[in-house]
Amino acid sequence: MHEISLLESVLETLETQAKQQGFQQVKQVVLEIGALSCVEADALRFGFEVVMKNSLAEHAELVIIKIAGQGICPKCQQQVLLETLHDPCHHCGSFGVTVLQGQSMRIKELIVI
Ligand SMILES: [Zn+2]
Repeated sequence: MHEISLLESVLETLETQAKQQGFQQVKQVVLEIGALSCVEADALRFGFEVVMKNSLAEHAELVIIKIAGQGICPKCQQQVLLETLHDPCHHCGSFGVTVLQGQSMRIKELIVI
């Protein structure tokens, strides 16, 4: 389950930010997950509690926002909604759509004490 290692890197980021900004506890973590990132929201929720145990985010609430996959067609230059990385263009059927968004997971927002 690669969600665990993702969460571990989230925790590292939280710890670094806590040092830089001087907060001690995280109340809420808002994560943005791209539809093309292969990250399972359920697995994240499940792993969150485990990974954050005994950390500054132990009692934090996890909020997950899903971001649609979006790309641009190299042939017809139209914006394309993507459900998978290898979807063809809906307009002209070309493959090789350039992905613009939805491939990554990132921390969108933190509420800290
Ligand atoms: Zn196209």
